[in-house]
Amino acid sequence: MKKIAIIDFATSEVVRGSFGYDSYLLYSALKQKKTIEVDFYEDATPFRMHRLDKTYDEYIIHFWSYPQFESISWARANLKGKITYVGYKPFIDKFNLEHCDYWNTKNLLLGMEHLPNIYKEMKYGLMSDCDLHIKSHDKRPVYPLFTSYGCPNNCKFCPIPPNREQYGKDKRVCLEGDALFSSIHESFKDNNNVHFCDEDMFVNPDWMQNIIEYLILLQEQYKKLKRVSFKWIGLGSVNTFYNYIKKYGTEGLIKSGCHLIELGIETKDEMLRKKMNKTGDMKQIDYINKNTKKIPKFWLTVTFFPGETITTLNIMGEWLCKYGTTPEQLGDRLITNGFVGGLGQFFQPYDGIKDYKELSEKGIILTERPVRLIPSYVPYSFLNCKPILTDKKFNKTDKKWFGTYNIDYDKYKDLIFDGKNKIAYFWKTYGTDILIYIALMARLGYIREGKK
Ligand code: SF4
Repeated sequence: MKKIAIIDFATSEVVRGSFGYDSYLLYSALKQKKTIEVDFYEDATPFRMHRLDKTYDEYIIHFWSYPQFESISWARANLKGKITYVGYKPFIDKFNLEHCDYWNTKNLLLGMEHLPNIYKEMKYGLMSDCDLHIKSHDKRPVYPLFTSYGCPNNCKFCPIPPNREQYGKDKRVCLEGDALFSSIHESFKDNNNVHFCDEDMFVNPDWMQNIIEYLILLQEQYKKLKRVSFKWIGLGSVNTFYNYIKKYGTEGLIKSGCHLIELGIETKDEMLRKKMNKTGDMKQIDYINKNTKKIPKFWLTVTFFPGETITTLNIMGEWLCKYGTTPEQLGDRLITNGFVGGLGQFFQPYDGIKDYKELSEKGIILTERPVRLIPSYVPYSFLNCKPILTDKKFNKTDKKWFGTYNIDYDKYKDLIFDGKNKIAYFWKTYGTDILIYIALMARLGYIREGKK
């Protein structure tokens, strides 16, 4: 019997895409193998691994997050036995590390199918920040489930496509038939809610409709058993969600227990959307908003992608005032996305993303270890803007948005924005916090762009 340890080192990052779940999926798959004995160390630290009195034939290390770099270096120097890696492919390649042989499409599908069987064993990592949407409303656990893995789109800021590039036709894989329905059944069976971690559930409307119809059937069975109905969250992209509702409408989504659909608008500015290589357009987004009033939508945004300006932030803010989420709708989740005063994910210069090499020509990389909630990159398009105060009177309740980012509004409130100085000047004088302050002032409509 081969003895394998899967190690997911602790990180301060919240799950960033499906590859943050790879160790769980691999563990779930290897548990099905008769010739392998596998242990899983979630949220591991070098200290805890150092004290382990067990040895293994192979250590499979999950490498998916920049803050794990140090622990990985420790593991390479200290673990005795073969070490292989699973997770974000460009990280593994960057350091010439050995890819784990067990991570292939067959085992990925096996891991997805059996993921619900390991729910009870897991202590950490099952909840992504998105699941917190349900938490205030419903105390039942929210479990992750993958019915598909990967994404056929190629948004330029996104690490998902480069992670699956080598898999060609398997860039996005889906569970089908019995495996699909049994995993859904198992996932909901203990009165759980579910977060579908699929990057885009709506790629194939007919396949999605099969899932919806099965969920409705389960809800009806629950009703007969006098059990509380369940809720689920799913992700889609504008184009695919639009195609789905055009074909099948929204009634099935509502009946099946859809609690929230997360969709990336990223920016309202069509030119900037094009630069990001986003699929879908504002016409489709308007159609979605008009025709899915009963389904809460969580509109995700990206800030500081090359091309961002004060004007693009102004128009994103205006749009979110109309169609954004309210804190009350958002459960326990961080109020950093989907709101007029939530800047969303700051664009991260992730290794391997499209046009990575050109990023330093279009802006300044602020750190080699980018994270989501503080700026890691600032584009010249933004640094070159000259802010001017608008006539809008400051509403004190807006201070909360600055507080979310630990920015003291009062510290900067007397700065002179008269269109004479570029943002680059304020940044050099006051540091990175001023970038967030100015971006928020633009989102909230207190500044506009002066002449170049
Ligand atoms: S739709 Fe775009 S942002 Fe979303 S997972 Fe796919 S490539 Fe990434």
